[in-house]
Amino acid sequence: MRKIIVATCNEHKIKEIREILAGDGIEYVSLNDEGLSGISITEDGSTFEENAVIKAKTVSEATGLMVLADDSGLEVDYLGGAPGIYSARYMGEDTPYTVKNNYIIDQLKDAKDEERSARFVCAMACAFPGGRVITTEGKVEGRIAYKEQGGNGFGYDPVFYLPEMGCTTAQLSPEDKNKLSHRGRALRAMHEKLSEEGVI
Ligand code: IMP
Repeated sequence: MRKIIVATCNEHKIKEIREILAGDGIEYVSLNDEGLSGISITEDGSTFEENAVIKAKTVSEATGLMVLADDSGLEVDYLGGAPGIYSARYMGEDTPYTVKNNYIIDQLKDAKDEERSARFVCAMACAFPGGRVITTEGKVEGRIAYKEQGGNGFGYDPVFYLPEMGCTTAQLSPEDKNKLSHRGRALRAMHEKLSEEGVI
């Protein structure tokens, strides 16, 4: 089976990517799977797209292969777009998500329903040997919940409430989350571009 490297060490992301693209005959492998977690990636871009391009290009240059990368995060309007591109590093990389989530809930304690708008954003980049890069983006709009709910997903899912579904993304089945998530949207758009180009 053909393998494509995804420039991530985040096991939740690679699991979702495999579920979203299941059945396309390609094995998606993480940096950990390939023993490449030692590659140093300096994520110093100022947008999700810039950071996704940096990750994909760095690993493609190091391996000489085509590489996919995802950069994603949560934007909370009441907090001026924070944590945004700093979502993984917000309050420290090793801080448990229940602490980060409750901190966000606490900062929004005076915010009314309509002031609680937020979105998950995902930029996907594919870098080819030789340096060419293509990108796609996916977003899902929602609100910050009043309390953490649900045990599926990862990260900020327990506080990301979808009014039209009446639950958080952590309360959705993996299939339902993948259908409407930022990552599902960005990845399906990338898959379409790559198959139009005849790459996959
Ligand atoms: P990155 O690895 O720099 O792209 O960081 C992404 C971070 O954004 C993750 O570690 C999570 O904190 C957050 N994030 C991205 N996508 C999701 C999601 O689908 N659910 C919950 N949190 C997410």
